[in-house]
Amino acid sequence: MEPATREFVPALNGRSFYNLTLSPIARAGAVLSLHDATAQHELNQAKSDMVSLISHELRTPLTSIRGYSDMLLKYNLVQEKGKDFLATIIDESGRLNQLIQSFLDIAYIESGRQKITKSEFDIGPLLKDMISVLGPVAAEKQIAIEVPADAATTRVLADRLLLYQALTNLVTNAIKYSPPATTVRIGMANGNGRIRFQISDQGFGIPIEEASKIFEKFYRRANKETREQSGFGLGLAFVKEVAIRHGGDILVESKVGKGSVFTLWIPNL
Ligand code: ADP
Repeated sequence: MEPATREFVPALNGRSFYNLTLSPIARAGAVLSLHDATAQHELNQAKSDMVSLISHELRTPLTSIRGYSDMLLKYNLVQEKGKDFLATIIDESGRLNQLIQSFLDIAYIESGRQKITKSEFDIGPLLKDMISVLGPVAAEKQIAIEVPADAATTRVLADRLLLYQALTNLVTNAIKYSPPATTVRIGMANGNGRIRFQISDQGFGIPIEEASKIFEKFYRRANKETREQSGFGLGLAFVKEVAIRHGGDILVESKVGKGSVFTLWIPNL
């Protein structure tokens, strides 16, 4: 039997927190080990407070900037030249809003405040939803997205929303970092207690020495193809966090100029 773990169990004094692990021993009962996790709990709490602060302090002024800029345009309150400036303000505040959202998504999951809520579902409809959003984006670059034929019947045990966001990030990247008229393939393999999603592209690729750095927060490659795409270097850090929180991982194999294969695996039924 596998050891059972419970994280951040409060002590009776309400101030200390422990991680408990119960490890069964064949024919001899079980060993219960306690690990003092008070410091980690405090750190998580501080991160969580920071997330709330950022969401409030940054979002409030941004909402005003957006709101008033939209009104100036809508009610024709500026001259022609000013309209170009306003369009830039609206675009840029949209980008800032996206940055805050991506940052919050990852900070929230990292802080441990976001609980993983697993349910059992068919992967087919999830992929269909994703393709309906990303298909048109790919089509603009004449990129075809191929989906596994057995998707409709494959059951997955995962946090549906987080898995959707993670797979969306991987497919979005495959489209962003590939030249036009190529193919993005979504592969899937279910077996040995795991499900693996493989997102393959025929894109620009990643040199081996950067293969682990791309999963760090805010890391973007310093090449021309990356600079031409908008992004904050948070997408893959989020995918990694989702994988780890599910008890899985994300790996990349890539050849510069040929393409990349990202494999996201999580335990499954
Ligand atoms: P972003 O796309 O916002 O820059 P990510 O965290 O999603 O951030 O990716 C980090 C970096 O990894 C990207 O800036 C890009 O240089 C590289 N990258 C990610 N996916 C791919 C891919 N499929 N092909 C080539 N490079 C990629």
